[in-house]
Amino acid sequence: MARSSNLTMCSFCGKSHSEVKKLIAGPGVYICNECIEVCGNILEKELGNTASKGRTAAEKAGFKVPAPAKLRDKLNDFVIGQENAKKVLSVAVYNHYLRLRQGQVQLGDEFKDVDIEKSNILLLGPTGSGKTLLARTLARILDVPFCIVDATTLTEAGYVGEDVENIILRLLQASDFDVARAERGIIYVDEIDKIGRKTENVSITRDVSGEGVQQALLKILEGTLCNVPPQGGRKHPQQEYIQVNTEKILFVCGGAFIGLENIIKRRLGRNTLGFHTGEDSINLDDPTVNVLDFAQPEDLLHFGLIPEFIGRLPVVSSLRKLTEDELIHILTDPRNALVKQYAKQLAMSGVKLEVTHDALRALAAEAVKRGTGARALRSIFERMMLDVMFDVPSNNDIETVTITEKVVNGLEQPVIRRKSAGEDPATSAA
Ligand code: ADP
Repeated sequence: MARSSNLTMCSFCGKSHSEVKKLIAGPGVYICNECIEVCGNILEKELGNTASKGRTAAEKAGFKVPAPAKLRDKLNDFVIGQENAKKVLSVAVYNHYLRLRQGQVQLGDEFKDVDIEKSNILLLGPTGSGKTLLARTLARILDVPFCIVDATTLTEAGYVGEDVENIILRLLQASDFDVARAERGIIYVDEIDKIGRKTENVSITRDVSGEGVQQALLKILEGTLCNVPPQGGRKHPQQEYIQVNTEKILFVCGGAFIGLENIIKRRLGRNTLGFHTGEDSINLDDPTVNVLDFAQPEDLLHFGLIPEFIGRLPVVSSLRKLTEDELIHILTDPRNALVKQYAKQLAMSGVKLEVTHDALRALAAEAVKRGTGARALRSIFERMMLDVMFDVPSNNDIETVTITEKVVNGLEQPVIRRKSAGEDPATSAA
């Protein structure tokens, strides 16, 4: 390339000033904006990979999963009830991370060709019963990245491809784009029941959106090398992708599966007539029986999940509707219990929060009425505490705030005790 020597040109690619957007001068050299970009990419690749390689080795050596019993005990600090789901999840999660180490543990030749397969998890249970909380808490205990994705958003965006990779992008974001860390994370796919096929008969009315999304999810659930567009959205040819292997990512899928109970009841009813299985002694209409506990793959198939998808979720567990007593415990016992959170907030303003037992019961009863499980507790509490939270910061005189049953039922304002005066019932802090 013969160019006149007095022309300013990029010392790297040789392009002249007029051929590029910007040329930056150094002592005796020039570099153009395009070469800066190329250099940036090289650096990111080289340095980024070294960093994650180093960390992987260190993490491999140090990553230890607590035994299932210990995992369950830790779950108990955050999740009330749901004993069966806790046990199933603790075992499944322990085995999942054990599986990741199968190449590193020396075993006899008889195990040489045995591959422990991936065990993603399906959680069935009513809304607000703790499905997301369980998955999130496990990720927290294990200190692995976690993200929640909504299966229905995948449906909206149409058929397959790019959107599914955006799920992995969420996990990458949760791990600050540390690929090695993301590859060990947990993804909770919510509302998985909403991508069911509308009819079991595939050939007549194909429900493309639901079934299409299930199909698209198959590969990443199983384990594949995924090209993730770092900015999200649709893929385009000029974009650089981040490659993520989903082989080690644990997927927990959850949904309320409304209607599944009837499918199970129908099947069991049929069976008991013909075969007298052990289940015929169970009264499925007994409210203490969780019918979802009896779910079988064939029920999920009837519900609208395709067989391949069911096959990718071999661990199934069900959660039950929370009882009034459990809701009371949820209000007060877990580490982040709602009452503890409000008590802390008020304590920061020097105010003590008291909630009577009757008030807790009334709160739980109201939540049961609303039918959204523990989710309702927060909204009821928030509405009830609004005036207090508004007034307390501008009053130095308040000593305690007491929530009684009447307060919960909207019959009186929270009871304020002031430092100067005595008790001041039925008055707001204003
Ligand atoms: P879902 O089953 O719909 O996924 P979530 O796990 O999102 O329900 O629950 C919503 C909120 O309700 C949680 O963040 C948590 O505060 C509370 N919660 C639900 N179930 C429980 C539970 N079993 N123990 C303690 N808190 C719970």
